[in-house]
Amino acid sequence: MLTQTLDREVVIIGSGPAGLTAAIYAARANLRPLLIDAPSDAERQTTPGGQLMITTEVENYPGFPHSIQGPELMEAFRLQAERFGTEFLEEWITDVDLSERPFILQTGNYTVNAQTLIIATGASAKWLGIPGEAKVPIGFGGNGVSACATCDGPLPGFRNRELVVVGGGDTAIEEATFLTRYASKVYLIHRRDKLRASKIMQDKAFQNKKIEFVWNTGVEEILGEGNSGVTGVRLVNLQTNETRVLPCAGVFIAIGHKPNTDLFKGQIDMDEVGYLITSHRSTATNVPGVFACGDVQDATYRQAVTAAGTGCMAALDAERFLDHLPIPMPTGDEVTIEGEHVTPDHQAIIEPDGTMIPNHVALSAQDE
Ligand code: NDP
Repeated sequence: MLTQTLDREVVIIGSGPAGLTAAIYAARANLRPLLIDAPSDAERQTTPGGQLMITTEVENYPGFPHSIQGPELMEAFRLQAERFGTEFLEEWITDVDLSERPFILQTGNYTVNAQTLIIATGASAKWLGIPGEAKVPIGFGGNGVSACATCDGPLPGFRNRELVVVGGGDTAIEEATFLTRYASKVYLIHRRDKLRASKIMQDKAFQNKKIEFVWNTGVEEILGEGNSGVTGVRLVNLQTNETRVLPCAGVFIAIGHKPNTDLFKGQIDMDEVGYLITSHRSTATNVPGVFACGDVQDATYRQAVTAAGTGCMAALDAERFLDHLPIPMPTGDEVTIEGEHVTPDHQAIIEPDGTMIPNHVALSAQDE
């Protein structure tokens, strides 16, 4: 099939807070960014607009003292990116080639040549896949079921109520501990009798009188009623197979996240889970000209505001790179669009042909 070719200086993949913030900055810098995102597809679990599209109230995004609905916030991001000239392409990317610039992105209808690429494909919370967990109206997702305690824990419906957290890693412990600020009690349901979380976090949770650990237990179903939301969970003891109903007002699933990086496997450095590795001093990946922002490179903070912050950084980094200025790489050295490397100690510049020159202007005899 014939495809149309598009040549762009900045291409952004992903339309969550990171991708759209990168678009706002790149568009205002007159770089005419092209933002590509997959169409909404329940089977492939794509969510254009990112995880805020499946959230209700957002109370912690600065600038909205009376809170804002997640989808409404993302619509505002999108309109702002559009206003400055961002082009949007709703296509599923089937293949990427990052071996040389321009990078080549292949979709069903287009071949996109990108001088710089900003990856903002996010991460998806893992779900248990049990009845009651799906988004409203099929289940209680967004109405008592959540994958983010920081986002949803302080909502009025969870205050002074008994809540359930599922998982045994650092996220589960952190979420359970956070929820004890609001809840009357938090049950932490874990499928084994040992936590995976770090010892320091475990110890704090064991000392927290509001947290009750329920070991060797799985959640079979989330129970609830129409509009009023979650009323309980059906638990199964994985050693005895006995089931019981535990009443609760909310369920927080904290069994890990999966960064959306399958497309880039083997082409960009990732950690063992699949998060893209970026420099501590920039959003640069190990491929010069490819930048990553938002949850796709952040297993720790995972907030809309931190994603937006790194989206801004990625756009500024792409702009600097296109302006032939050096960008700090994960290795510590700095690289320009021409392939010149500034060594980590800043003492030398290595030209693409290997020639090494000092990184300072020679003083004339008169200056000396
Ligand atoms: P992890 O993969 O570390 O833990 C996931 C937990 O969920 C495990 O206990 C696992 O059980 C359980 N689990 C997985 N799948 C299922 C399932 N289908 N049914 C029931 N239980 C399941 O993910 P986290 O999100 O907790 O942490 C990810 C990374 O982020 C880690 O490196 C962590 O250290 C880091 N992190 C650090 C924080 C901090 O330092 N403040 C805060 C949050 C995260 P099992 O143990 O049996 O495999």
